[in-house]
Amino acid sequence: MDTQQTEKGQIWEKTLNELEMLISKANFVTWLKNTNIEKTENGIVFIGVPNSFSKEWVKNKYNKFIISALRKIDPSIKDTEYIVSNKIKPICEKISTIKLMPQKTEESQQMEFKEFHETKESLNPRYTFNDFIVGSFNELAHAAAVAVIKNPGTTYNPLFIYGGVGLGKTHLLQAIGNKIKEDNEKSQIKYTTLEKFANMLISSIQNNTIHEFKEGYKKYDLLIIDDIQFLSGKTKTQEELFHIFNSLYEKNKQIIFSSDRSPKSILDLEERLRSRFEGGMMADISEPEYEARIAILKSKLQTKDIDLSEETINYIASTIKNNVRELEGALNLLLAQSKLLGKNLSTQELKEIFNKNIIYSKKKITFNKIIKTIGDFYEIEERFIFEKSRRKEYVLPRQIIMYLLREDFNASYPYIGKKLGGRDHTTAIHAYEKISKDIKNNYQIKDEIQKIRDCLYK
Ligand code: ADP
Ligand code: MG
Repeated sequence: MDTQQTEKGQIWEKTLNELEMLISKANFVTWLKNTNIEKTENGIVFIGVPNSFSKEWVKNKYNKFIISALRKIDPSIKDTEYIVSNKIKPICEKISTIKLMPQKTEESQQMEFKEFHETKESLNPRYTFNDFIVGSFNELAHAAAVAVIKNPGTTYNPLFIYGGVGLGKTHLLQAIGNKIKEDNEKSQIKYTTLEKFANMLISSIQNNTIHEFKEGYKKYDLLIIDDIQFLSGKTKTQEELFHIFNSLYEKNKQIIFSSDRSPKSILDLEERLRSRFEGGMMADISEPEYEARIAILKSKLQTKDIDLSEETINYIASTIKNNVRELEGALNLLLAQSKLLGKNLSTQELKEIFNKNIIYSKKKITFNKIIKTIGDFYEIEERFIFEKSRRKEYVLPRQIIMYLLREDFNASYPYIGKKLGGRDHTTAIHAYEKISKDIKNNYQIKDEIQKIRDCLYK
């Protein structure tokens, strides 16, 4: 029995070593590292996975690789089965609890800031496939990227990736560039954003170097232009890009674009360019599904070498839904706060921090929504919020609105006063100070504001 156990362990270890080379690091850690062989029966290997989602995912995505890796090690293996094993704990529970201490937050923020500027016109080695999580939300774009890397310039040309902000377009484009560079040191690669391209074009016109500018672009083997939606209305840029595109395309050079919307939705775009964009492969990236959000969080935690409870991870993944950048932002916020407090945060504390700080979803909250939410909460007619009445049942809701506008939305006092029935800015200051004090001293008010925030931001 014991020797069988060791044997199974060894087979699986070798299999994982094989798989590690085929699959990105992030996906490997997320989906495969935490698996084992439960048993083998009549040539069938039963692979244990931590939950039913992993079971489906690993089976659909990686079974082919797993079977061939297993057979390399033991050719008598016929097939695989996947079973949910309670012996396997999810990754985050397994790692012993490390105190939540972000490392070098300030420095890394500065780094990121610097990188942001550097990404504008060159490849940034930070973006690789190693830490790129693939889920159903970006599967098509990822598969297209892989196909382009295998056969640049032939399979999908151009490749047009589109989707909303923070969904990984830049990451994917940069990762393609980095990989092609890695595969072929000599290949000439250009990464730029449309804005940068347009600006350079304008200065080349001013400096009488437009010929050099255009010729320069025609020598690339791979041209990547990010955020192409800014072509909208730029007639001259569209014209020059069209010629550069044709010249590269005829020579079978790969061209890749990203956009926050489909070619059809880019306004004021010449028809001939639109049809070029649509003539290759178009792949969209949508919002990450819950499971992908969990996988992304876990992968980011691994790279930061930090542990969070499953409950906390689930909470973040069910609160932050829009995009990957916001997930990263939430994680950084949480780490910074726990560093400040010098301890791990409870889920309750986390909720409070999120409620106060989630600027992202707040962007979508309108003034009218705040009025309506608070009006509904206190069951008062909205008009009383704006009118002059000093009755207590109207004053408190009005002050809470002013407080939230200031605290959560950074609104100026004159703005707040004006919006709330043309009041003086000192009224807004008074309201803000009063509610700030109440929150500290009056449990009921604190609780009510928490509930209002839950309604507003959930
Ligand atoms: P976009 O260009 O679509 O606005 P970015 O590529 O800038 O988005 O991505 C935002 C952030 O999220 C980046 O830090 C990026 O590394 C990260 N990110 C996006 N998609 C993924 C993914 N699938 N796996 C891991 N990290 C991702
Ligand atoms: Mg981008």
